[in-house]
This record gives sequence, C-alpha cells and structure tokens, in this order.
Amino acid sequence: MLRQGCIRAVGVAVLWSSASRSVHITSAQQNLTRVIVKQPFYLSAAFLLKKAIWRIKMATPPYNHVTQVGDPVLRGKSDPVHPQDIRTKEFQDLIQKMVGVMRKTGGVGLAAPQIGVAQQVFVMEFTEKHMKGFSEEIQKAREMEVVPLKVFVNPSLKILSDNQVVLTEGCLSLTGFSAATPRAHEVEITGLNEKGEPVTWRVCGYPARILQHEYDHLQGTLYIDRMDTRTFADLQWPQWNEK
Ligand SMILES: [Zn+2]
Repeated sequence: MLRQGCIRAVGVAVLWSSASRSVHITSAQQNLTRVIVKQPFYLSAAFLLKKAIWRIKMATPPYNHVTQVGDPVLRGKSDPVHPQDIRTKEFQDLIQKMVGVMRKTGGVGLAAPQIGVAQQVFVMEFTEKHMKGFSEEIQKAREMEVVPLKVFVNPSLKILSDNQVVLTEGCLSLTGFSAATPRAHEVEITGLNEKGEPVTWRVCGYPARILQHEYDHLQGTLYIDRMDTRTFADLQWPQWNEK
C-alpha cells in the first residue's frame, strides 16, 4: 500500500509495537559475512505464555488488517491467479476486502500480500479527497491525477522511461516510516481486471509510482529495497525529543 499520508511526510503515523529483533553478525568462511536475524527468546516465550493464558486467537487471511514488515508473506513472490477463478465469489470477496482495507487505512493502493494472501492481485485509486490533501503546486509537480478504482490481476509492468523521479514514499506495511524512493517516470501495465478482461494502461507521474509500488509487493519487494537509505525516517521522530 502506498500511503498517501506518508508521501506528505507528516501523515498520520501509527505507532507500532515493534517485536524488536536482534541482529547477530558472525564471520563465515571465505570472508563472507552472514547476517542472522533471530527473534529473541524472551519475546517468543512471552508471546507463547500470553497466548496460553489469554487464549489469543490468530486471525486467518484474508485479514482485515495490514501485514507488517517481517511477515514472510511480504517477502515471497505471489502466485498467479487462474483466470477462471476471477469471477468466483471467493475471489470477488477478496477484491472487496482489499478495497475495504485500502479505504479504511487511507491508502491509495493495496496488494493481496498486505492482507496475507500471496496472489498476484492489487487494487489502487486516487480520489478527489486524496488530491485535496496536497497543494495545487505539489499536485502539478508530482503529476497527480484522479484515478478511479482499478484492479490488476496477474500484472506485468514495463518501464518506459529512463527518467527517475525521487519522492518521499511510505507503506502501511512499514507503519510510521518513510524514505525518498526513486521510481521510473513512465510505465505500462498489462494484466486482467476484476472481470478477467485484459487491460493495458500506459501512465506517467504519480499513478506510475503507485503502480510500481504495488507491483513490487507482488514480487516480495518493498520500498526500503529501493530507497535512499540515508533518508529513511521515523515520522514521529520529533516526539522523541519532547520533554
Ligand atoms: Zn506498500
């Protein structure tokens, strides 16, 4: 999900309780460095204890919430959808749930892995309300335009421009953070729509950014893989300095 609020860099940031992970770096053979990320034992034990005591029920996909970085579903390549399945009630319900989660979280796009489903489908829209969140100057500079709801199943994305545009980008799967991220200025997407019909869309500017962000989710790629790492920021960072 490309989070509109994060683009403005001062959006509504939701503080998330980080299941902090310790990173152990060890030297390996042939001077290679292996980075092993482990969940600290006390966190795992605390979770199991809490689960046993409170009988915590785990939700099952498709979720009504957005999965967070660290969830393996965000890092795998999603499976293609069988075209014959697109018109089934189950798949149509999945699309409706994606649209619902995207809208309730204020997003401008949502990919299926973000609600726990590893299938090649994403939704996007950029409404008048989204537009009004930006000054006319910014709208023009970022080449924003209203885009009614679009659904892409089994998409392919072709980069049509060598020009890279760098803008601050966020993602609800990395709640509360943002970073300057380069994206191609113009792309062409082909795939199937919500009715299973073939669609092609050639677009530039801000919609092209949304498409690239959501398409990346289906490959297990996040904006943090493309960002200028020195611009990575906690949107709430000033609050940490308050007395
Ligand atoms: Zn995202």
